[in-house]
Amino acid sequence: MHEKRLKGETKKMNNNQNPKQCVNCERTIDQVPLIPVEHRDGQAYICPQCLPVLIHKPQMLIGKLAGAEHLGGHQH
Ligand SMILES: [Zn+2]
Repeated sequence: MHEKRLKGETKKMNNNQNPKQCVNCERTIDQVPLIPVEHRDGQAYICPQCLPVLIHKPQMLIGKLAGAEHLGGHQH
């Protein structure tokens, strides 16, 4: 008699959905609180620590965050 055993441990649920993670440092919502940022392609998240980057150095987020290239930053 073959009993089907549950192999629940072999595969952890493969979530192919994007995990919520900071666009800059890529830490996940499990590690740090994240702030949702809406952009033209949908929604991204950024952590409070990287928020100054978004504000002062948005060019660092070009390629990571849609529309970042238009933020410009402050040039003094
Ligand atoms: Zn971050």
